[in-house]
Amino acid sequence: MEELFRLSGSELLRRIRSREISSQEATRACLRRMKAVEGRVRAFRCILEEEALATAEAIDGAFSRGEDPGSLAGLPVALKDVLCLAGHPTTCGSRVLEKFIPPYDATVIRRLKEAGAVILGKTNMDEFAMGSSTENSAFEKTRNPWDLDRVPGGSSGGSAAAVAADMAPVSLGTDTGGSIRQPAAFCGVPGLKTTYGRVSRFGLVAFASSLDQIGPFGKTVEDLARTLSVIAGYDPRDSTSARVPVPDYASQLSAPLRSIRLGVPKEYFPAGLDSQIEGAVRAMLTRAEAMGARVEELSLPHTDFSIPTYYILATAEASSNLARYDGVRYGYRAEGAHVLGEMYRRSRSEGFGREVKRRIMLGTYVLSSGYYDAYYLKAQKVRTLLKADFDAAFEKVDLIVTPTTPSTAFRFGEKTEDPLQMYLSDIFTATINLVGIPALSLPCGIARDGLPIGAQIVGPAFSEPRLLGVAAALESEMDFRSHHRPKALDA
Ligand code: GLN
Repeated sequence: MEELFRLSGSELLRRIRSREISSQEATRACLRRMKAVEGRVRAFRCILEEEALATAEAIDGAFSRGEDPGSLAGLPVALKDVLCLAGHPTTCGSRVLEKFIPPYDATVIRRLKEAGAVILGKTNMDEFAMGSSTENSAFEKTRNPWDLDRVPGGSSGGSAAAVAADMAPVSLGTDTGGSIRQPAAFCGVPGLKTTYGRVSRFGLVAFASSLDQIGPFGKTVEDLARTLSVIAGYDPRDSTSARVPVPDYASQLSAPLRSIRLGVPKEYFPAGLDSQIEGAVRAMLTRAEAMGARVEELSLPHTDFSIPTYYILATAEASSNLARYDGVRYGYRAEGAHVLGEMYRRSRSEGFGREVKRRIMLGTYVLSSGYYDAYYLKAQKVRTLLKADFDAAFEKVDLIVTPTTPSTAFRFGEKTEDPLQMYLSDIFTATINLVGIPALSLPCGIARDGLPIGAQIVGPAFSEPRLLGVAAALESEMDFRSHHRPKALDA
């Protein structure tokens, strides 16, 4: 029998809509797959089996009455545990929010529900989305489905692993400095970080508000496109969401590559870059050229400053956003404190993990009087220069192609003792968030150790249609999915 859990989200949608299969069959296939592999992968913080089956049944009922229950009708999806889902714990991977049950749905979740999606569960993540390996979760250790001794990437490691392990065809993650694209690359699935303002963040627990964006993971680029059309768009509840019309992304995927100009920034292929990663990305560019694209080298001269700039601004914003977890209004409260100051102090020191505390201290420092101008203000100025680099580049090219990550998935514990090493895994992704533009990670090859390699495709603000179109063309040319899949779970 054909294994339904292996199908892409778009293929499942077609079969459910044509009533070749039911949503209940699709949902059960995912739940069965979870029973078989989740014990080894640990991608989920919680699984909502009963609710998922009830939704699927309702969707099947609507189809049998001849109604149209929405563009994602019957599709099982998984959600990063940083997105508020009414009535269920939303932990953000933190002890601080272990018992927090939001009374409302994030806008993206409301839109998914209205489009008929079936919510399978919430996925594991680095605490408050700070990290690149999901090792900073206060809860379980999520493993990479390609090699269970390796990390899935982070911070949206659970969402990437859930899709890679065929437990969900589509999931949502968030990306502040690379947290969708880096785990997508490590887990061999496509993932999209959207333009700042493209997707409402109402109900997303904030990490760094000038950088955070929500976006999809899927089995195919078409999965990303279909999901994005549902979650994108202006929301009166999020003043940073943009009033830019939302196209039907999936209907625009067949644009030819002919005459597309692809820029290759030399700073993203530094001396010493892993030769297999460089080789895989360049091989993809060669194929793009054969398909009619024009490839040209260019320079983004301020690239070296992006990691320091990101880690000043992201920590500054985090220290301010996380001030709300004081044990008073919600979240973890230490027992037995007698005065308010002690209660604050103990709640925060018992509730937060090491990396979150490190960020709060760094962020408080760069914002403190006497240091503000030297760090925070200067970083804001460098951010403007980074944006100018990209503005200039997009005068000459339509899209930019780089590796997504400097290495393939690393081993557990390999970078936990040295935060700087961990921070450097964002070297190719964080700048994109500083500039506010969209970027997609596409699987483009396999290293000798059997681990996937991702290529990052970057476009100007709101260029998602072109980004998705070019990615879809390259995807069908390379056909990564039919050649490679994680075998660690076959036993
Ligand atoms: N790894 C980066 C960090 O730790 C990015 C995280 C993210 O995008 N949420 O800040």
